[in-house]
Amino acid sequence: MKRLVLLGGGHAHVKVLADLAQLPLAGWDVHLISPYRRQIYSGMLPGWVAGHYPIEACAIRLDTLAGRAGVAFHETAGVGLDLATQTVRGADGSTLRFDALSIDTGPMPALGDLPGSAEHTLPVRPIEQFIAAWPALVDRMLGQCRRFDLVILGAGAAGIELAFAIQRRAAIDGWSHLFITVMGSDELPLPGAPDRTRKHIARLLAQRGIVWKGATRATRVEAGLVHLQAGPPMAFDACIASTGAAAPSWPAASGLATDKRGFIGVSRSLQSTSHPNIFSAGDVAAYADVRPKSGVYAVRAGPVLAKNLRAFCEGKALQAWTPQLRALYLISTGDRHALATWGRWSWSGSWVWRWKDRIDRQFMRRFGTEPLEASP
Ligand SMILES: Cc1cc2nc3c(=O)[nH]c(=O)nc-3n(C[C@H](O)[C@H](O)[C@H](O)COP(=O)(O)OP(=O)(O)OC[C@H]3O[C@@H](n4cnc5c(N)ncnc54)[C@H](O)[C@@H]3O)c2cc1C
Repeated sequence: MKRLVLLGGGHAHVKVLADLAQLPLAGWDVHLISPYRRQIYSGMLPGWVAGHYPIEACAIRLDTLAGRAGVAFHETAGVGLDLATQTVRGADGSTLRFDALSIDTGPMPALGDLPGSAEHTLPVRPIEQFIAAWPALVDRMLGQCRRFDLVILGAGAAGIELAFAIQRRAAIDGWSHLFITVMGSDELPLPGAPDRTRKHIARLLAQRGIVWKGATRATRVEAGLVHLQAGPPMAFDACIASTGAAAPSWPAASGLATDKRGFIGVSRSLQSTSHPNIFSAGDVAAYADVRPKSGVYAVRAGPVLAKNLRAFCEGKALQAWTPQLRALYLISTGDRHALATWGRWSWSGSWVWRWKDRIDRQFMRRFGTEPLEASP
């Protein structure tokens, strides 16, 4: 029997698993490798921080999904690839041979350029580590009588959503001594969004009492202090790093074709440009048509990846995918309020939050999570 290995349980692979649960792949033995038994849906993570959802409501059970699909589950991280022997090496010392491989392991936190950040900040990724560390950060803040300064490095969707979510939680739980600063290298938050939207986000930050420190580049972090390219260093009690996506080192080290930054080069069929029996999707992939690293494109790649893996295994023709140019981004801005952007258009309000909540719940239901109720 031939073997297909799915490395990582990212947004595209959950669709592949759901597809396999509906229709098994005849003559192929399928395996999933993931360091965690669940996949956290990042779109809902800020909602967990804000207190809207319990964490189980934001999690897709990979082990259950794999079980339903007849896929063997291996609880470990892939740490190396041997392309000559066609094997994946796991962090637990295991090796797994493959005839076809698909990689959807997401990005690594981009901490490389910021000395001291690995030691002195809490990165948002791996998300499971952030989730595990968050209660201790809250305890530390609650245990401090004086002002508690939380600095968030990075003003992309993740950093901004987290800032609003933490502020919402602070307002509800009475953390009045918490002061949040978001720092970004551009003049305005949310790089890549239209100017009008960015100004709107800056206004919302100010309205919620979150300090926006734009045009500021952090150069080094030490205990309690972030050094800046210009001006005096900034003191903090806790620092969350949300500084963007970097590639893991093992794909390039294995000899797999990658782009300059180390993301796996794939054609329009999501097939590696150097190894036709290897596929990749999500943030770890460098698509033929360059698109921002975002959950939207990882989710959109799912159905194409599912079809093409099946077609490859059955010896049929692959489908080409051109990711849409514009994507709908729904950014939660705290207090059951959200902002939607589509190209140069944007809308905001409580109705946008309800719309986002509905889309997120529908997404989770598709992958077997029970319908959930927002916490009061
Ligand atoms: C707080 C937050 C808010 C965000 N908001 C938005 C938003 O509003 N809109 C948007 O489009 N994007 C948003 N993003 C970005 C979005 O999360 C990512 O673009 C998306 O998760 C990428 O999906 P993926 O499938 O590539 O990877 P992931 O979702 O990261 O999934 C990768 C999976 O692979 C596993 N894995 C990791 N390493 C290995 C390994 N070595 N071996 C095996 N398995 C591995 C991980 O545990 C995980 O299960 C947000 C991110 C964060 C953190």
